[in-house]
Amino acid sequence: MSDKRRILIADPSDELIDAFIREAKALGYEVEPARTGPETLSLIKHFKPHLLIIGLIMPHIHGIEIVKTIKQHVETQEIGVIVATYHVMVQNYHAAIEAGADYFLVKPFEMDHLLHLVALYFKGELKPDPFHLNNGKPELHASCYRPIPSSITSYIRFWGTRGSNPVSGSEYMRFGGNTSCLEVRHDRDLVIIDAGTGIRKLGEEINVNPGDTVNLVISHTHWDHITGFPFFKPLYQKNCHVVIWTPVGFEQSTKELFTSMLAYAYFPVRLDEMKARITFKELRDDQSLKVGDITIDSHYANHPGPTMGFRIRSPNKTIGYITDNEVLLGYYGHPNDISLDHPLLKPHLGLIEFLKPCDVVVHEAQYFPEEYYRKTGWGHSSMTNATILLKYANCKEWIVTHHDPNHSDHDLHIKQQLHADIIRDCNVEMKVDLAYDGMMIPM
Ligand SMILES: [Zn+2]
Ligand SMILES: [Zn+2]
Repeated sequence: MSDKRRILIADPSDELIDAFIREAKALGYEVEPARTGPETLSLIKHFKPHLLIIGLIMPHIHGIEIVKTIKQHVETQEIGVIVATYHVMVQNYHAAIEAGADYFLVKPFEMDHLLHLVALYFKGELKPDPFHLNNGKPELHASCYRPIPSSITSYIRFWGTRGSNPVSGSEYMRFGGNTSCLEVRHDRDLVIIDAGTGIRKLGEEINVNPGDTVNLVISHTHWDHITGFPFFKPLYQKNCHVVIWTPVGFEQSTKELFTSMLAYAYFPVRLDEMKARITFKELRDDQSLKVGDITIDSHYANHPGPTMGFRIRSPNKTIGYITDNEVLLGYYGHPNDISLDHPLLKPHLGLIEFLKPCDVVVHEAQYFPEEYYRKTGWGHSSMTNATILLKYANCKEWIVTHHDPNHSDHDLHIKQQLHADIIRDCNVEMKVDLAYDGMMIPM
């Protein structure tokens, strides 16, 4: 064995080994490489290095285990150790130093720096530095990626995702119990769709200034879409203008309906006593409502009474929003047995075209297939039939809303799995998620 200073470099990287061997040999060191844990232990025995440079994640045996083995045996415990690793965590640092390593070197490093450490070791001057994640880099924020935040806030937010009737209780904690209400926001532009019980909290949180106009679109006048209306705060603000957009009623005008809903027998404040100015406007099929950069297109859905579905457009995204829609009335079969020219699909072809440009579609699927068998004609879809509609609308991302009041969080989790199973059976690529009170989707 020569008198030269012997260094064993153990690392899985050929690149590091080759570079080190070249430079260290030029300085007069004798060097051997090892690429696995067992090879390292074997060379410790036969090459008898003065110094070991070792990576932490060595094939077959962890670097720390190797250091411990060396330090436990009298014949090898004098060998110096430099641990060189990308795995820079404080636990690894302490494990290495406590096992007896002389230095914890953070990768990547300059070869000159390693050679300097080697020289220090042989002079007897190598001591571990305190743990430092950034390897002495002076300013963290100077090198830290930070995205430029958009100056425009743009999203839809669900304030109520329950259909038919509000619910409360521990079994509804995950998805929430408020009935339909959606906030559509693009910068300072705002449209609210439906005034279910979710609108109460929305009214508390939006800032309506004197002179502001609030556009409230009502898909239809079933209770679950209007019952929060009397509790909508901007109605009690002077100088506020609330415009209510509804489909043309079959029996009474919407103003008559809202007036009778606010009779003294039901509520202490009548419609004409509210402080805000309230205007009723008609929403027509294939008509668009434009509020700043938000556009709301309407299309009839299949539901008792005149009921609208919507397409929400911002400069960035198009989102379909249909809360109440019975697809394929009375169909209980396999989804793949319904072709596009099936007679049952005919009434929905208009809506299918309407939804095709959407990036995301929010659509109900209120009933499990077996529930739909008993609730046919109630105005809501089975999970299967809703999937068929979205399949033909080329939907790529589906958010399910208008959850049945009988469905607990547990039931909805089961539904989510079942949605995935139905989509698999349809052989389509569609992401599906369930809406919950508070859910926001950037737009
Ligand atoms: Zn509803
Ligand atoms: Zn309804």
